[in-house]
Amino acid sequence: MADCPGVLHLAAMADGALARIRAPGGRLSAAQARATAGAAATLGSGVIDLTSRANLQIRGMPEGAGPALAARLSAADLFVEGPADRRRNILLDPFSGLDPEEVRDMRPITASLDEGLRSASWIGALSPKFSFVLDGGGRSAVAAISSDVSCRAAAQGTMIIAAGDVLVEAADDQSCVAALLAIAQTAAAAGPQTRTHDLDPRILTSALQAVPGVRQAPEPLATRELTPRLGLVPQRGSERVALSLPVPVGRLDVAMLEWLADVTALDGEGWLALAPWSAVVIFGMSHAVAEARLAQSVGRGFTPLGVAERLTVVACAGSGGCSRAREPAKELGREVLELAAAEPWRLPPAAVRVHLSGCPRGCAGAATADLLLLGAEESPGWSAHRAASPRAPGEPVDRRGAVSARDVFELLAHRGR
Ligand code: SF4
Repeated sequence: MADCPGVLHLAAMADGALARIRAPGGRLSAAQARATAGAAATLGSGVIDLTSRANLQIRGMPEGAGPALAARLSAADLFVEGPADRRRNILLDPFSGLDPEEVRDMRPITASLDEGLRSASWIGALSPKFSFVLDGGGRSAVAAISSDVSCRAAAQGTMIIAAGDVLVEAADDQSCVAALLAIAQTAAAAGPQTRTHDLDPRILTSALQAVPGVRQAPEPLATRELTPRLGLVPQRGSERVALSLPVPVGRLDVAMLEWLADVTALDGEGWLALAPWSAVVIFGMSHAVAEARLAQSVGRGFTPLGVAERLTVVACAGSGGCSRAREPAKELGREVLELAAAEPWRLPPAAVRVHLSGCPRGCAGAATADLLLLGAEESPGWSAHRAASPRAPGEPVDRRGAVSARDVFELLAHRGR
């Protein structure tokens, strides 16, 4: 990916200019979802990506479309003037506030952190890659996703904040937000490309000691694994349910986003959440309606639940959208899911993760995959790796000039042989 884009500052990609929309905590109203779909139809190619950090990206725009896009999205409160537009990377559990198992509702902290970043005088010096993850202790366990700063609710009612090797405990929402902003400000003061791992822990500790209500944490919280939630999900204190719909390889089109906006307005509470496991969640639906909408969703282009629960496919933009790629990662990923839906007997007995990247950089995510296919850098073709991540792919188990969806299932079937 080129320079981190925002709404006004676009990234030049192989299929045109690309904008990234950062909705606070990944929440959009039905009207905001509709505005995004309208902008993608009018200014872009109609392709909308849902990223692994729960942002939306509009693809295929002409160079210089930023001001027109900013004007459209400003009316929908999806654009922030100035450098904060592309420096508010806050990942929140999509079920925050509604998960019966969570310890704390992190939505107020998310809103205050977003507001603090918008108004910070130093925001322009913060790296656009600097990111936060906020986890209220619900079942999704989003803190497992790597970030510069993670903030997790602890059972005793406090928040444990981890920034590199520095671990502190915040007593309440106010001190938590102050601590998160202090960490970002320390990174900004150290230089525009600085990430948490670049910071001297002594400087960071000293900055946090000055924040009222923050003290050194007694110990880290136990590690948890990300738990994607799909289909009908119970909501706290309600007979109603949330509907989490899997988006194939993180790619939507205008019609899919408009349909989500309609369902959100007609059957839900009027807002939806973007999930970092390539899903969109609509809240406050009756059980019967949610079942009906889930059944309809397949005809609208969403992945069947029976496939998504057994097969996770992550894929970067590939040759259709990235000039570094030789291989069509996104298209191959979509074909794999379509083949699984048409011929479900191909699905392995246990759930598997497949990662497809058009080149060895592996932009689609850092998690370990059962099967990792990397496009070669210097020549056409793929290398296949088992139980590997792009950061540590190891030796390939196979090399192929071309890979079809059937080949992917063949490589999966031969795992462990
Ligand atoms: S992994 Fe994909 S998106 Fe990232 S640089 Fe390579 S081809 Fe481009």
